[in-house]
Amino acid sequence: MAADAKEIIFTSGATESNNLAIKGMAHFYGKKRNHIIALQTEHKCVLDSCRSLEREGFSVTYLPVKTDGIVDLKVLEDAIDPNNTLLVCAMLVNNEIGVVQPIKAIGDICRKHGTFLHVDAAQAVGKIPVDVNDIRADTMSMSAHKMYGPKGVGALFVRRKQPRIRLDSIISGGGQERGMRSGTLPSPLIVGMGASAAIAARDMSADHLHITKLAEKLRSGLFSRVPEIYLNGSENERYVGNLNVSFAFVEGESLLMALKEIAVSSGSACTSASLEPSYVLRALGVDEAMAHTSLRFGIGRFTSEAEIDRTIELCVKYVDRLRGMSPLWDMHLEGIDMNSIAWTQH
Ligand SMILES: *Cc1c(COP(=O)(O)O)cnc(C)c1O
Repeated sequence: MAADAKEIIFTSGATESNNLAIKGMAHFYGKKRNHIIALQTEHKCVLDSCRSLEREGFSVTYLPVKTDGIVDLKVLEDAIDPNNTLLVCAMLVNNEIGVVQPIKAIGDICRKHGTFLHVDAAQAVGKIPVDVNDIRADTMSMSAHKMYGPKGVGALFVRRKQPRIRLDSIISGGGQERGMRSGTLPSPLIVGMGASAAIAARDMSADHLHITKLAEKLRSGLFSRVPEIYLNGSENERYVGNLNVSFAFVEGESLLMALKEIAVSSGSACTSASLEPSYVLRALGVDEAMAHTSLRFGIGRFTSEAEIDRTIELCVKYVDRLRGMSPLWDMHLEGIDMNSIAWTQH
């Protein structure tokens, strides 16, 4: 990862790391610069940290992304005010749709305009190679449980030179972690995080081969056997272990129920309790009906080929069964264009 040990602050997870980086920088530098940019597809904890800063008087631009989920670099550069933009928040791998942002190019634009770059790398560290210097991150969040480590621990990289980043702490106290995060460090959790990171680094290329093979099998199995399904997010700029698919004319929650033996999710893990369509898919311009039909498949180190076969089999069976009960699917088969129907308002 190329960071110095002194640049790592242990936290309770990526949620806290994102809060600390964003609010910490805003509070330290806020008198000089008070504009922040965050992608609309950032994790809730990034967006909510920005919202809370807005209530304190900061101005925030929630930057749209293209329909493939990737930031348009020109739109980003135009949104930066070189005299007032303090910080750009951009995630590396998106947790819902797996797209990978062109983070190096984003970092170059930030450097050019004297703006800091905060990277949420919770879904990237341990899965793909990440070098904080290469991607020009000034701060970067990580989470142990996203790389098979213990829950309740994470870290924030805080650059110490070129430039040296300063943060106001959120938690006051004994001054641990160079004053940036007080509180006795949870050594058992930190040891667990270290061990999971070491295993991830050792096995990264083997994991990648295994995951790529299974992900391709799942993708081609679904796309060749289920009609009217759509991949959400960029075709190529993606982490292979995340496959987010819309099954047109199938209610996502019903399919989720039917697939209960498989750990898939609708929307993000955090907001799946609500029946709101995913704001990430909405930011890609996926319409509300289609967003409701999406499911996210995660393929990881411990996924087996038999599980992929079973998943394909169950999806084919239940999508067919659910569509068989859907009047909309019948209309679609009859060639009626759904968008041409004037629905009655209730
Ligand atoms: C999981 C996740 C978080 C939150 O991490 P916790 O360690 O669970 O707090 C933040 N950002 C992304 C991209 C994530 O995937």
